[in-house]
Amino acid sequence: MSENIKPGSVSSLSYVNPVPGSPWDTYLSQVDRVMPYLGSLARWGETLKRPKRALVVDVPIELDDGSIAHFEGYRVQHNLSRGPGKGGVRFHPDVTLEEVMALSAWMTVKCAAVNLPYGGAKGGVRVEPKQLSKKELERLTRRYTSEIGIIIGPHSDIPAPDVNTNAEIMAWMMDTYSINSGATATGVVTGKPIHLGGSLGRVKATGRGVFVTGREAARRIGLDLQSARVAVQGFGNVGSVAAELFAEAGARVVAVQDHTGTLINEQGFDMPRLIAFAKSEGGIANFKEGQRCDNEEFWNVKADILIPAALEGQLTAARANRVNAKLVLEGANGPTVPQADDILAERGVLVVPDVICNAGGVTVSYFEWVQDFSSFFWTEDEINQRLDRIMVGALNHIWEKADQHRISLRTATYAVACERILMAREERGLYP
Ligand code: GLU
Repeated sequence: MSENIKPGSVSSLSYVNPVPGSPWDTYLSQVDRVMPYLGSLARWGETLKRPKRALVVDVPIELDDGSIAHFEGYRVQHNLSRGPGKGGVRFHPDVTLEEVMALSAWMTVKCAAVNLPYGGAKGGVRVEPKQLSKKELERLTRRYTSEIGIIIGPHSDIPAPDVNTNAEIMAWMMDTYSINSGATATGVVTGKPIHLGGSLGRVKATGRGVFVTGREAARRIGLDLQSARVAVQGFGNVGSVAAELFAEAGARVVAVQDHTGTLINEQGFDMPRLIAFAKSEGGIANFKEGQRCDNEEFWNVKADILIPAALEGQLTAARANRVNAKLVLEGANGPTVPQADDILAERGVLVVPDVICNAGGVTVSYFEWVQDFSSFFWTEDEINQRLDRIMVGALNHIWEKADQHRISLRTATYAVACERILMAREERGLYP
């Protein structure tokens, strides 16, 4: 890469020479690790190492003060072999094309790991949404949706919420796409409000999936949830729900970190109070029932279960050496770098990888999409039971694969998923 090209900028796009340590670099190493287990399907392996399609769009909007601002937006469809693209949209100032490529690839693996009939996709806009008014955010969302409208659709690519996006934003996306295409198309996005074809249970689904896979992994390694200590990084939709469910199951949530700071409470936080506080104050930092500590201290906390549920690359090699937990549950996408994975394995820390651990969100997105097409809606109990069944079934299958080859749960998940993806690739054949 030439010196003057900024990492992540469009012109630096390189499938084979990623920015070292970047999410795409992490993803490529994860794929390399699974290749020896794919047998003759490895012939198609290169498919996994490049996105099928990447769209970069300019998103101009008028700000409330009358000036014009331009934002860079992306939609990447990594793989469509098993079905339409599926994956969230992220609004964050650090979003780059390369990051969205990695996130889209993780969606491909995730959907195949739980056997949903989807490929993988992801979108993002490089923006700090906290600096926009609600009207500006709506204009940004609508213009972005319109720009990516040429490749999304209920049968081609279905966006959903991710970091800093929510049901309200999905409603604007659904409305914009529907107006542009001349008919209401509820199935174009998932994670919508309940009255617009959303699904019960979707908001909590990712956190619930983290809990379900964590509960199963804990059972298998003989860790009693009743006495377990939990530390969670990230207190958004994933981290807060997972922490709440572990607390309800009798565990003690002893450390929490979000973008405002880190809090420790040896007795275990009162989760409903902490969640209500974080919602009303925009962060946990000033919650009184806990001691503030340095952010780096979080990684030393003695906990049985550590849940990284924030952004990529948080579990670095240095931090992995300090982790004091038995079980890591990856609520975030790509929180652990490959070197840290090796260190955790050597230290006997079990990692339930993102591509199974946080698959609860997209699983209930799939339920939502199916309900939208049939215009018949299920009860929350039905949804939670089906989610539990799918997650436990997928984890059991992966566990067997890991035992069979004596490989990590991550490589086993990739083996199960990549086999499905490349089998579809092979069966469809190469055109022309
Ligand atoms: N953004 C979530 C994820 O990373 C959910 C995606 C979806 O529901 O399509 O898995």
